Amino acid sequence: MAARTGEEFLAGLRDAREIWFEGERVRDVVAHPMLGRCARTLAELYDLQWDPALRDQLTYTSPSSGEPVSLAFLETRSPDDLVRRRVMFKLWADQSGGMLGRTPDYLNAILAGCAMARDHFARNGPEYAERIVAYYEWARERDICATHTFLDPQSNRARSQTEQPDPTVPLHIVAESAEGLVVSGARVLATLAPYSDELFVFPSTSRLQLSDAQRYAFAFAVPVATPGLKFICRESLDLAGSPADHPLSSRYEEMDAVAVFHEVVVPWERVFLKDDIALLNALFRQTHAFIHGIHQFIAKNLAKAELVLGVASLVAEAIGRTEVPAYQQLLGEIVDAVETLRAYLRAAEADAIVDATGYCVPNPTIMTTARNYFPKVYPRLVEILQLIGSSGLMATPTEADLQRPELAADVEKYYQSATLMGHERVRLFRLAADLACSGFAGRQVLYERFFAGDPFLLAAARFTSYDRSTAVARVRALLAREPNVDSRALDASGAAGAGHAAHPTGRLLRHPAADA
Ligand SMILES: Cc1cc2nc3c(=O)[nH]c(=O)nc-3n(C[C@H](O)[C@H](O)[C@H](O)COP(=O)(O)OP(=O)(O)OC[C@H]3O[C@@H](n4cnc5c(N)ncnc54)[C@H](O)[C@@H]3O)c2cc1C
Repeated sequence: MAARTGEEFLAGLRDAREIWFEGERVRDVVAHPMLGRCARTLAELYDLQWDPALRDQLTYTSPSSGEPVSLAFLETRSPDDLVRRRVMFKLWADQSGGMLGRTPDYLNAILAGCAMARDHFARNGPEYAERIVAYYEWARERDICATHTFLDPQSNRARSQTEQPDPTVPLHIVAESAEGLVVSGARVLATLAPYSDELFVFPSTSRLQLSDAQRYAFAFAVPVATPGLKFICRESLDLAGSPADHPLSSRYEEMDAVAVFHEVVVPWERVFLKDDIALLNALFRQTHAFIHGIHQFIAKNLAKAELVLGVASLVAEAIGRTEVPAYQQLLGEIVDAVETLRAYLRAAEADAIVDATGYCVPNPTIMTTARNYFPKVYPRLVEILQLIGSSGLMATPTEADLQRPELAADVEKYYQSATLMGHERVRLFRLAADLACSGFAGRQVLYERFFAGDPFLLAAARFTSYDRSTAVARVRALLAREPNVDSRALDASGAAGAGHAAHPTGRLLRHPAADA
């Protein structure tokens, strides 16, 4: 087995999966008028892996089969590996300008991270480590596309799982058999579910499981097409219209769904952690598994910020405002976001760490900072596009209007701009509106606020888990008027400041990473 083609990916979606969409069970996701377009967009990404010009940038040779497999699965052993993998992340992200948030490389990088963190699973028992590694290798050779659900439904967040009015709502174990675990209940929120082969049910990256809940304590994976497992989609943000009218939502509407389990059997070889609540809570806190996922989505975020910069620049040019200092300032804010993201990537690769088992990880502290940065800045980038585009974002007739001979002269005359013909300006502003004003745009903002975890809890954890001792000691010394801290010893390199390499299981490397 090897990296898949688009056709192979699409063929894999034609199975017995239970996808519910607008009151109907979808029989064929690929043929569906609303859902099919994103399936084909994903297929195009898979096809790139077999493009002779790109193959070496997107794949590497499998250590088990000798076949080309996606670089997202790479177990990283050097900073060069990190750079190589990031080039792959960025190449895929650039295809959609980062609008397809959940390309398969995201969870595949996290799965590789779990395999690299096999020692953590071994603490639950040696069989758990063997299972996660075997599953990772299986997934790598099949080039899977996965979705995940890390959270219980939003019933009553003030209560633990057992304290819910109905404690059978959160996904829970109902029985154990020779075959495996039997689970019922629900989990949220499975982005990309209709297009996925596999579902990962893992603990949250941002919240702790309360300690009274062993029957809620597990990490496993099941095929999307598993008997008893259904996915209930939200309504589509792809309006099924012309791609010229909705350039983003017609291609990159990746869908979100709630996963509902009715006595689903999870074979034992797919159960990766169980019972040990402390180990589950520690999975993404004390291993680097999720840091590899952050590496993917910061590359995606860079592509996304670059898309906003490109669109905002053209919109400002179109209406003749690029010489106005206030507009330049707004556009400069987007430039700062682009360059901040590029710097995070480069710094995390340059200051990579090597963990206890010899794997190389982008600097966890820098990656965590980058993770917390984007949910704050992306809404601002969209706001800037709204401020620059203003009413023009709503002066946007459709492709059907542009085709009408009776309207042609009016469109060319009244929609013309400083740099564009009328019909060209309409196309640009429709793209800008899809990015800043549509339902798709609103979901993108919500996605960036939340998909990587609860921003409130993550911000608080930033304070509580950061090693502030050097900074505090320096201030104490200042207050005591006894300079008992040698400032030359602090932060001598200028790169590793207080708490910089803060992760218990890593050693800091120094590496001149290639340009991000
Ligand atoms: C578009 C989208 C796609 C997603 N895709 C996935 C996916 O594929 N897989 C997956 O597992 N999850 C996914 N998520 C879920 C995501 O992980 C959660 O949204 C996130 O962890 C926050 O949890 P919650 O939505 O349950 O919010 P809640 O926990 O219900 O919190 C609601 C609000 O309260 C705030 N809050 C929490 N605690 C406090 C406090 N003590 N004081 C003040 N405010 C507080 C939160 O920050 C938030 O703003 C997705 C979310 C979105 C929006």
